[in-house]
Amino acid sequence: MKRVHIFNAGPTVLPLEVLQEVQKDLVDYKGKGLSVMEMSHRSVEYQGIIDNAVASVKRLLNIGDDYEVLFLQGGASTQFYMIPLNFCPDGKVANYVDTGAWSAKAIKEAKNIGKDVHVAASSKDKDYTFIPKELSISENAAYVHITSNNTIRGTEYHIDPNIPADIPLIADMSSDIMSKPFDVKKYSLIYAGAQKNIGPAGTTLVIIKKDFLKTANINLPTMMAYKTHADKGSMFNTPPTFAIYVVGKVLKWIEDKGGLEGFAKINQEKASYLYNIFDSSDFYKGTVVKEDRSLMNIPFRLPTEELEKKFIAEATAKDMIGLKGHRSVGGCRASVYNSLPLESAKALSEFMVEFEKNNK
Ligand SMILES: *Cc1c(COP(=O)(O)O)cnc(C)c1O
Repeated sequence: MKRVHIFNAGPTVLPLEVLQEVQKDLVDYKGKGLSVMEMSHRSVEYQGIIDNAVASVKRLLNIGDDYEVLFLQGGASTQFYMIPLNFCPDGKVANYVDTGAWSAKAIKEAKNIGKDVHVAASSKDKDYTFIPKELSISENAAYVHITSNNTIRGTEYHIDPNIPADIPLIADMSSDIMSKPFDVKKYSLIYAGAQKNIGPAGTTLVIIKKDFLKTANINLPTMMAYKTHADKGSMFNTPPTFAIYVVGKVLKWIEDKGGLEGFAKINQEKASYLYNIFDSSDFYKGTVVKEDRSLMNIPFRLPTEELEKKFIAEATAKDMIGLKGHRSVGGCRASVYNSLPLESAKALSEFMVEFEKNNK
């Protein structure tokens, strides 16, 4: 069996142990004589699978019954408009912190459905190289929305944004959920496409404070109302059964391997393999300010675009894939999510040192 080092931004690497367990149960799930893919979502068996996934989320994030944990479809991109639809009534203003392409898309969707939008802070004028810490929140704020980790730009919040307690805080955590402990209680709604840090593509984790959910607009197309999904335990209609099953396995794996505290340490170590190189070389240049460096997505530049092409080609030949920067920014990017083995980060750092020697 061959496994390459997978530095994709998403979909991306999954834990080998999880893939093997899925493989073992693929055709005959625990002696039931059918695959999870073939199971009714109304079966007792499947109810157990989704319940376990929800329970893992709650244990990992240390939350109780004051939060709804949902598995929805349509990706994080669907959340971009479901949030203003549900939580920005007329007369209120949707506040956003603009820290890159994903924030910009969230802002655009809120505007597209006619909401009053205020950008409370932006790092756009400095090419999204930092996380703005000072916010100017509007009057009548419906909520403040942040992107906790900027997958394309490689900046990440390392402290929660400071906003008044009576204003709901909403976060797109698609690319750093479950990578470190954080205080969920500060957030009214959190969402994350599964395909970066917690599973395969196909489902989006949405966590909503129940008190906040009570304030949601319910005069919406049925599928667009969070209440629809909360009332039916994510099973108003057929959920993405297989994706949720795999997410449940990845979450269990995270719990078994030390939980969020454990992963925070390993993620720090993995990222430092690369950041240490930037800090000791002028061949590789990080693209963001030090204090806001992401531990999940690490963009960098080489002295020339030719060298970047060569770097990516040689890395690929050494079975290190996914290192091309996002097409909107160029350069290189290594995504080093929870499921990326430490050895992969180490292998990349060794290759980087060698490549610098040969090409300086
Ligand atoms: C990938 C990503 C998205 C988009 O997710 P989809 O599931 O493809 O819609 C949104 N926000 C962030 C931060 C992302 O990294």
